[in-house]
Amino acid sequence: MAEHYSELSIPHRLLLGPGPSLVHPRVLRAIASPLLGHLDPAFLQLMNEIQEMLRHVFRTQNPFTIAVSGTGSAGMEAALVNLTEPGDPVIVGINGIFGARMATIVERCGGRLIRAEAPWGHIIEPETIAEALTKTGPVKAVALVHAETSTGVHQPLERIGALCREHGALFIVDAVTSLGGLPVEVDRWGIDACYSGTQKCLSCPPGLAPLTLSDRALAVIRGRKAPCQSWYLDLSLIADYWAEGKRAYHHTAPISMLYALREALRLVEEEGLEARFARHRTNGDALMAGLGALGLTPFAQEGHRLPSLHCVLLPTPVEEGSVRTELLQRFGIEIGGGLGALQGKAWRIGLMGESSTKADVLSLLSALEDIFEHRGLIRRTGVAVEAASRLYSSPTLQRG
Ligand SMILES: *Cc1c(COP(=O)(O)O)cnc(C)c1O
Repeated sequence: MAEHYSELSIPHRLLLGPGPSLVHPRVLRAIASPLLGHLDPAFLQLMNEIQEMLRHVFRTQNPFTIAVSGTGSAGMEAALVNLTEPGDPVIVGINGIFGARMATIVERCGGRLIRAEAPWGHIIEPETIAEALTKTGPVKAVALVHAETSTGVHQPLERIGALCREHGALFIVDAVTSLGGLPVEVDRWGIDACYSGTQKCLSCPPGLAPLTLSDRALAVIRGRKAPCQSWYLDLSLIADYWAEGKRAYHHTAPISMLYALREALRLVEEEGLEARFARHRTNGDALMAGLGALGLTPFAQEGHRLPSLHCVLLPTPVEEGSVRTELLQRFGIEIGGGLGALQGKAWRIGLMGESSTKADVLSLLSALEDIFEHRGLIRRTGVAVEAASRLYSSPTLQRG
């Protein structure tokens, strides 16, 4: 058989889509390390270190801070299936694809879904949540997406935790496209369950979902009337594997992925969170300046735009799909198309983790200029790169 297939040969790509992002060579080397048994003391030590570093990026003291086996959606499902029992009222913020996915899971758990909606591209106003909490009576949880990857919206969370406390509700947050790229303050914002994914701002291959639970959330899970419907994602069982001193077998940990995550987290620590956030902001601002010069406009509401994911509307003459194909085939650059109603009308450009650099921004802009000029969409090349360069050399950036 083997002679029928050529040796694996991956084309060179600059990944600037909505994930996965580029991965540092050190992370790739970590994955190639020899396997250990998942109960080997040497491996358990690595797990402890991963937990410590995850607490640091989540900005939490929560003892229950782990990496769920599976991609970001496994983190979402783990949080929701464990915290929702049949009949539980759960408020979900829906202003894009990922809020809608949370709502679907709540319904599948038999929860009573209460939709807190906003048009795509807009935040869920804290007043909308407050009203839903007041109108509904006791609510089990409020679930919101911090960084809505389908629209580029940056949801404010600071006030919601306190609102949830007043009403005795748990606060669940999707930080898949924010963790490691912009501030996520689990303890300060009163978040009870927060999950992420490895392949976005943490710049690790897809396959793990960092997750942290407050003691309150863990107590709710341990006090369930009936066991969680998912055995694989039952966090009360998984807690016994991650808990120091217990380490009870539940399922085999994805050893190599955990090596990768440990190295990716070490890179985050080396850079420092503040420096990393500033880098994401600067590159995001420069990208938007350049795209603006090409006639593209941001989709998300002003003042609530993500630095890690840019959803931009295209002027009518731009053929969305064919430009994107040309970017990939001639320049090896991947960006994402629009989802839902934005299909054919928008791009989603991710500047996450290793994929957020000045070199990447300028490469994308000059490739787009080249394509646009060939198609007669702009008169000369240089406009976008110049706009971005001006931003990079602007003194206001020095504040960091
Ligand atoms: C990517 C993403 C997910 C799902 O993660 P997968 O790794 O694709 O399963 C969930 N929520 C948000 C906001 C995302 O961007």
